[in-house]
Amino acid sequence: MIKYRLGCPSGHEFESWFRASADYDAQALAGEIACPLCGSIDISKQPMAPSIVTNSSAAARPAKVPSTQAGDAKAALEALRAIKKSIFENSEDVGVRFAEEARKMHFGEIEERHIRGSSTLEEAQELVQEGVPFGILPALPEDLN
Ligand SMILES: [Zn+2]
Repeated sequence: MIKYRLGCPSGHEFESWFRASADYDAQALAGEIACPLCGSIDISKQPMAPSIVTNSSAAARPAKVPSTQAGDAKAALEALRAIKKSIFENSEDVGVRFAEEARKMHFGEIEERHIRGSSTLEEAQELVQEGVPFGILPALPEDLN
């Protein structure tokens, strides 16, 4: 299996698995690979070394991270925490009604305010297609607990 990082002309990036690089070429040519966010089939490979899963699992062994990079990652994590905290303190939690509320605001049915909540992948795709602006908060390690 080979993992490729793919991108569409709108700048969306996503990852996809293929049995072999030839499978990617064939599916891309046939227009069978579509961007999950906007549905574009004008897909191109992003510059990244593909991850290859082998039976020996040698490729899956994590590389040692130099301490300077580990420090950078920690700083980036702190920055993300701060952003997330600020959003949480300045927005209303609308929960699963997020897509509905965001759409109403976009079309002027209700007054604009800062909201946060959750949506399904399907709802997120619909918002993208309707041009409703929204952002996705990155998951932090503590969110997964
Ligand atoms: Zn796209």
